[in-house]
Amino acid sequence: MTEQLRTAVIGVGHLGREHARIYSSLPNSELIAVCDTNESTGREIAERYSVRFVSDYRELIGQVDAVSVVTPTVSHHDVALDFLQAGTGVLVEKPIARTLDEADAMINAAEKSGAILQVGHIERFNPAFQSLQKVITRPLFFEVHRMGIFTPRSLDIDVVMDLMVHELDIIAELVPSEVTKIHAVGIPILTRKIDLANARLEFADGCVANITASRVSGERLRKLRLFQPHQYYSLDYAEQQVAMCKLMPPVSGALQPEIVADYLPVNKREPLLAEIESFVNAVREKTTPVVSGSDGRRALKLAHDVLTRIKEHSQLAGINLSFD
Ligand code: NAD
Repeated sequence: MTEQLRTAVIGVGHLGREHARIYSSLPNSELIAVCDTNESTGREIAERYSVRFVSDYRELIGQVDAVSVVTPTVSHHDVALDFLQAGTGVLVEKPIARTLDEADAMINAAEKSGAILQVGHIERFNPAFQSLQKVITRPLFFEVHRMGIFTPRSLDIDVVMDLMVHELDIIAELVPSEVTKIHAVGIPILTRKIDLANARLEFADGCVANITASRVSGERLRKLRLFQPHQYYSLDYAEQQVAMCKLMPPVSGALQPEIVADYLPVNKREPLLAEIESFVNAVREKTTPVVSGSDGRRALKLAHDVLTRIKEHSQLAGINLSFD
């Protein structure tokens, strides 16, 4: 395909307007429309990029080659499915959907029509993660923190589906082994859903991942630390930085191994731009996207498993998490 892809963004709130900015700037994409059920939001962004505004995404079916679905999670399935059935490429924000049945329907629709389905697990496009990924050999232990300051967005889902799902995707991508056990705790704080959660995942190959996610934190933090034999890495997603310590074999005569501390080389760039560029290329070249529908389903399944453990834990401990 040599000509520009006709693109549109469905949902131009906090994140969707960033998708619109990027589609309108890419040489191989022509942003032709934005859609939002909130007319003033949608019109503002449409005017900014001199494109058409629609309040009903169905008006765009058959008129575009690729769309980003950046609406709240509750509507991911319904919006994405209509485009996928029409053969339109879809980049759906994370989490892929609310339920595994919805995710399966989306994956099946994409397979049937041949449409590309990519899921917005943006940290895969963080250049710091991409540098880390190159040096992973045998991860044994992860300590991960994803802490956000409270905003009134994404309250249709809990913190496990909203924030922890990023880390579940990253860890599932790095550990080539099945999860065998999950321990998890979580509590609602400012909403009626889980706002703060901790999960410990154990893998068949012996790896352990400890993940804390909060959307009611006083500070923003997105850090992943990991050990593998003779190596420690500390990744800061926001700074796009990976610090490392390596144990080198003792040089002749020395009693202790040498500790080498350094940073991995990282080519810093905007992860959302890299994600959308990669999606546009996958649609144009009809190649498997970096984050496929089944990757999105894998992360969603882990999120559901964590939530099940949280419920079981609160029942066992006799804690009533409900306000009802
Ligand atoms: P938001 O509430 O700011 O924006 C959502 C927009 O969608 C609103 O303008 C709303 O009017 C519109 N909308 C709702 N239903 C619609 C429909 N059926 N058709 C058209 N428009 C509709 O939310 P947000 O923070 O931008 O989050 C949107 C999505 O992006 C969520 O799925 C969220 O999980 C995801 N997200 C991902 C990341 C990331 O790091 N990848 C970060 C933030 C949000």
